[in-house]
Amino acid sequence: MQKESDQPRFLPVSEPLLAGNEKKYVNECLDEGWVSSNGKFIARFEDEFARFCGVKHALSCCNGTVALHLALLALGIGPGDEVIVPTVTFVATANAVHYVGATPVFAESERYTWNLDPADVERKITRRTRAIIPVHLYGLPCEMDAIHALARKHGLHVVEDAAEAHGGEYRGRRAGSLGDVATFSFYGNKNLTTGEGGMCLTDDDELAAKIRLLKGQGMDPQRRYWFVLVGYNYRMTNIEAALGLAQLERADSLLGRRREVFGWYRELLGSHHALELQPELPHTRHACWMFTVLVPSDRERDAVAAALLGERIETRPVFPCMHLLPPYQHLAPAGSLPVAEEISRRGLNLPTSPTLTRADVERVCDALRRAL
Ligand SMILES: *Cc1c(COP(=O)(O)O)cnc(C)c1O
Repeated sequence: MQKESDQPRFLPVSEPLLAGNEKKYVNECLDEGWVSSNGKFIARFEDEFARFCGVKHALSCCNGTVALHLALLALGIGPGDEVIVPTVTFVATANAVHYVGATPVFAESERYTWNLDPADVERKITRRTRAIIPVHLYGLPCEMDAIHALARKHGLHVVEDAAEAHGGEYRGRRAGSLGDVATFSFYGNKNLTTGEGGMCLTDDDELAAKIRLLKGQGMDPQRRYWFVLVGYNYRMTNIEAALGLAQLERADSLLGRRREVFGWYRELLGSHHALELQPELPHTRHACWMFTVLVPSDRERDAVAAALLGERIETRPVFPCMHLLPPYQHLAPAGSLPVAEEISRRGLNLPTSPTLTRADVERVCDALRRAL
């Protein structure tokens, strides 16, 4: 048997870098006893994250799924309503719509960017449509001008699911500032992490107050134990906020390293005849969450993933389409969103972490070329 040290380093598809004040701030929570959802780091993290995104209000919560749930609740979306979501997304986007009793309506992806296709969104609008949830897939900001034009024309809300796009930009504005409400996740594999955690952002004072009420059990801020509506316990802990603040202090470095990793991949794989890459558009700044390639077919995709795993390199398939999953497959037939289905079948996420070196990325690219 080979010794562990003889083997090349295992490259996970994503790993966090916790090399700043994370330990110091968490220890402050432990030393001072503030381990629950009160404590100095919560407001500091919210204020700093609001500033980072250029938005007035940031409201922390316990994960990105809950952030979407709070956003839809605060907008008053409920039974009988339809919400248009991309079919290529993480399942939380669709689940949050289901949680409020509304129906997710799945829309097609753009062939070039893999993001929500505004032309198909327009086709999916009905009398019942109340909101659109664009998702910046793998960090590439969606075509927000076109989505807002549709929203204005049809009187719809825009909930920006920015869970994968901390630091991304669209026409000079940060992801998180591009919807009526925006939501983030700080899960361990995201651009910035708190372990588990989420955030809602909005410039609207009323929506912010509603979200604050909903996430704190519905308690009247002026009157303790007086609950004015059925709320939720969706709060972030001080320990999570401590991690988040430390991550945010180093956001430029963390995001810069991811951008460097993306640059190496683009340089080494950009001209490969069998691969398609997600573009970076002149008016957007990719948040560089997951470097992703489309290989020629689904069979090849699975073979390539197995070959890379054999070389101790983890990959991930692009998300399966939501309309093909058991809870949602009654809503749209297989084959009805062909562009999205193809991207989902052919797409593979490659390791993307701030911890990767150029040599690591070269190793991934060599293994990928051999496998193809
Ligand atoms: C990660 C993610 C979420 C949910 O985040 P959690 O913090 O894991 O609940 C929501 N939407 C998208 C697009 C995501 O990638």
